[in-house]
Amino acid sequence: MDGCLFCKIVAGQIPSTKVYEDERVLAFRDIAPQAPTHILVIPKTHIPSVAGITGENSELVAHIFEVIAQVAEAEGLVNGYRVVSNCGPDAGQTVHHLHFHILGGRELTVNMA
Ligand code: AMP
Repeated sequence: MDGCLFCKIVAGQIPSTKVYEDERVLAFRDIAPQAPTHILVIPKTHIPSVAGITGENSELVAHIFEVIAQVAEAEGLVNGYRVVSNCGPDAGQTVHHLHFHILGGRELTVNMA
C-alpha cells in the first residue's frame, strides 16, 4: 500500500535486518529494540491490523504463527518469549501494517496493560 512503511520494507525500498523470509512472510529486527531479542513478523500483503484478519487471510496468519515459532527457536529463545500485536490507537499501534512483535532474551515484566 502506498505510504506504508512496512510495505516499503517488503519492497526493499527501506532497509531492514531480515531474519526470515518466504513468499508470504518477512521477519526483521525492530529498529528500537525493547528487549535483547525484538523481531517483527509481518505478512508481505498489506493487512492494517489484527482487526483486518478475516476468513480470507486467516490461513496466512496461521502461517505467521508457524514462522514465529521457527524464528524464536532459531534465535535461541529457549527460556520463552512474548508475542504482541498492538491494534489501534488505544493499544498504541504506530505502524498500520499487521505485525507481531517477538520479545525475548530476558525475563519480561508481567504487566499486560
Ligand atoms: P507498533 O507500535 O506496535 O505499531 O510497532 C511498530 C514497531 O515498528 C515499533 O516497535 C518500531 O520500533 C518499529 N519500527 C519502526 N520503523 C522501523 C524500521 N524502519 N525498521 C524496523 N522497525 C521499525
